[in-house]
Amino acid sequence: MSKELAELLFPHIDKTLDYYEELYPQRELGKKSKVTRLGPSPTGFIHLGNLYGALVDERLAHLSDGTMLLRIEDTDDKRKVEGSEELIINSLKFFGIEFDEGVTLDGEVGNYGPYRQSHRKEIYQTSAKFLTEKGYAYPSFISEEEMAALRERQEKEGVNTGYYGKWAEDRNLTIDQIKENLDKDMPWTLRLKSTGDPEIAMKFIDGIRGEITVRQNNLDIVILKANGIPTYHFAHVVDDHFMRITDVVRGEEWLSTLPIHLELFFLMGWRRPNYNHTAHLMKTEDGRKRKLSKRKDPELSLEYYMRDGYFQQAVTEYLLTLMNSNYEEWRMKNPDTDYNEFNFKTKNMSSSGALFDLNKLNDISKDVLVKMSEEEILRFMLEWSDKFDKEVNSLINKYYNELLKLLAIGRTGKKPRKDLINCKQIMEFIGYYFEESFEHRDSLPERVSKEDAIIILEQYLNTYNQDDTNEIWFEKVKEITDSNGFTSNNKEFKKNPDDFKGNITDVSTAIRVAVVGRQQSPDLWSIQQIMGSERVVNRVNKYLNKIK
Ligand code: GLU
Repeated sequence: MSKELAELLFPHIDKTLDYYEELYPQRELGKKSKVTRLGPSPTGFIHLGNLYGALVDERLAHLSDGTMLLRIEDTDDKRKVEGSEELIINSLKFFGIEFDEGVTLDGEVGNYGPYRQSHRKEIYQTSAKFLTEKGYAYPSFISEEEMAALRERQEKEGVNTGYYGKWAEDRNLTIDQIKENLDKDMPWTLRLKSTGDPEIAMKFIDGIRGEITVRQNNLDIVILKANGIPTYHFAHVVDDHFMRITDVVRGEEWLSTLPIHLELFFLMGWRRPNYNHTAHLMKTEDGRKRKLSKRKDPELSLEYYMRDGYFQQAVTEYLLTLMNSNYEEWRMKNPDTDYNEFNFKTKNMSSSGALFDLNKLNDISKDVLVKMSEEEILRFMLEWSDKFDKEVNSLINKYYNELLKLLAIGRTGKKPRKDLINCKQIMEFIGYYFEESFEHRDSLPERVSKEDAIIILEQYLNTYNQDDTNEIWFEKVKEITDSNGFTSNNKEFKKNPDDFKGNITDVSTAIRVAVVGRQQSPDLWSIQQIMGSERVVNRVNKYLNKIK
């Protein structure tokens, strides 16, 4: 009967699995080479979890001379959002992930396509026809209301809910009953006729979790929806088989349905890929750990990092830290080695929740940026601002050569300054430099009165010489300090603070406020050297006018 049923349900399918086996041959790759895929749904939202998974895919593939492909899982029409594919591709590219195969901005690349699930209907239906022929699938006419009623009955009886075993009444339909229903144009779904027994527990090795116990599936889940489109369960099994995927990386939310997937692979007679179920990304809030949430946490969205202009290397470096517990140690031992050389292993990934920490990302960014050249930093800032902030883009272009020098201040030597995190923060950090947006933001230090500031700054203007060396400049500041009731002798100041108005730090801070508008900045003499005499003098005069 099952052959007849298969013909009845899929009269339009004339291909067999053999056809596709030939069309999508085993890949000619090394034995150990891994083929991975990212299978995002085009919902218009791409998040840190996607990037986290994509980086695992990327490392597994490229560390083994394998291939990583992008497959768009667009079987759910209702959730499809225009422009999602571009968003996915561009966002991942921003963070250094580029696919070898699959959907690209210039069309599909590779011999295992189509790479959009919506274009693979025939492959799914051929596979579904095969299952039906084997007697492992049947049409089900049960409506949503009937399913709800069934669930109620099951709850009352205290048994597991779902369509299975004796509850799955459509298993028993005769071919004539099925024909009759089809003739009446009743909508139907194709269900798996499960052969599993949940009493049977199997050992299963997950790439991240190690050995786990999995119970057999017994649910007759829907494999083709009423519109002939497969559910995720069936689609990914068929795709991963025919795309010759060796390693699946996906979120732990799929662990509960893993038994279904194992049964499907088994019944299709296919070898299953290795599964790697990644832990949820968590954050600590009020001392408690919780899952990052799309609704509550803007930092879950990749756009958050793009908009702030985080550097790809920093984000990758941070994710590797999050992904492999031994990464930080390796980085300490190999401070200058490319992260691509780190021996990434899924078995070193945490299975109990990866704790995401923005502060840690910022710290790692500082470490990564301190090793980058100013050219590299500015090049990225130009690219970033071209997309996200045109005003900043023209500022960087206008001041480019000066910024090269400005960013370099204090970044060499034994204890280099680690000030720089991301583009937005860098712009804020050097914001004082641009005449366009310059303002005297900070107030004078507490121990410097307006009257004293006026005297200090007038003397500063009188003695300022752009050609002074740092030493001579500093001597002059000392003189101004000591001749106005402040002291350049810090020891003395500590001993008898009441004998002075303040110390040299107060005086130089007052000067700094006048020149850069802030109480804090990198080395002031160096900044002035880059700014030039005219701008320094103008700014001090402007400040004098402001406080006079
Ligand atoms: N489309 C699925 C998701 O977005 C992919 C899961 C998988 O990688 O298998 O969750």
